[in-house]
Amino acid sequence: MNLKQLKRLYSLFKNQELKGRYITNSDIEKCLNNFSDSIQSVIGYSVKGRPVYALKFGYGQRKVLLWSQMHGNETTTTKALFDCFNVFFSDDTISKSILESCTILVIPMLNPDGAEEYTRLNANSVDLNRDAQNLSQPESIILRKTFDKFKPDYCFNLHGQRTIYNVSGTENSSVVSFLSPAQDEDRKLTSNRKTAMSIIVAITKTLNKLIPNGIARYDDGFNINCVGDTFQYLGVPTVLFEAGHYPNDYNREEVRYFMFVSILKALQSIALGIDAKGYKDYFKIPENAKQFYDIVIRNARLDEESTQLVDLGIQYQETLVSQKIDFIPKVEIISKLDGFFGHKEIEANSKIVKTQYGTTIKVANEIDFVLINNEKISLKP
Ligand SMILES: [Zn+2]
Repeated sequence: MNLKQLKRLYSLFKNQELKGRYITNSDIEKCLNNFSDSIQSVIGYSVKGRPVYALKFGYGQRKVLLWSQMHGNETTTTKALFDCFNVFFSDDTISKSILESCTILVIPMLNPDGAEEYTRLNANSVDLNRDAQNLSQPESIILRKTFDKFKPDYCFNLHGQRTIYNVSGTENSSVVSFLSPAQDEDRKLTSNRKTAMSIIVAITKTLNKLIPNGIARYDDGFNINCVGDTFQYLGVPTVLFEAGHYPNDYNREEVRYFMFVSILKALQSIALGIDAKGYKDYFKIPENAKQFYDIVIRNARLDEESTQLVDLGIQYQETLVSQKIDFIPKVEIISKLDGFFGHKEIEANSKIVKTQYGTTIKVANEIDFVLINNEKISLKP
């Protein structure tokens, strides 16, 4: 499966109904209405009584469990999953080869309450990815029961990451990140961990052609409360996928394609019979670092009296406003930001930078534009 084939599949089968950052249960229900009842079921209900859906594809021996939107505001992988579903419905040879070898169970939105409110947490303000041992929430129990009943051979834990990450040692955004989680404090390289690493290596071979130097991996500090660490601990190769930021892609439609590629490549590698052998190149993937702000304004003077030059680090607050995500610029830090990068860099050249109201900028200010020597500069994406 080469890039040309993947591109063709994407242009043919991309789901046209799901777009942007705000994806809720009612959005995916519209898509599910078009799908046959035989592949979908309600596997439980959220805190607020919203249904949690699962879809099953294929009839092969290798069982793969995928879940997305465990964090309600991480929607990119959900869009990519629905793009993949259309591929599974087609009689394309790539789809056939995957579905002959694999049985795929997908929970496209584990946290529908968080999705509705556009929050990471569920309706009881619990991070489901820290609840793998306590199982205190209905959504955590749904996932665990599905795991116990389906008995997957592989798990894909699908997430989205903030814009703050870069590929360490570079000024490149971490467009896509992966992790083969640890399964013990010593972070031993067990065979299932190595298998998960081999899957990641298989993905990056293709993804590197699309986003060279845009792929990173998370550090593997062990936390048994995280779902990936728990499933790995239970002996099932588990891959964490994180959809990140591609330049100017705040709606994450470019990254959606990279996740589509990643998920299909990962499934294909399993269909072809992946094992632990190919794991070593995993360690060549650079780690994630946190050196990005959405915007950095450099060499600013904050008022007429000041001779000191400072930099402003500005981060978007993703806020749900009338059923859409608004990106509200917020001043996170005023300091010298050498060693940090902005997805957008603004050079103030020692000029005075003020808020849109002409007042002195302070940390935590939310401002849509700044005045640089009285000239309006928009901070919106
Ligand atoms: Zn997440």
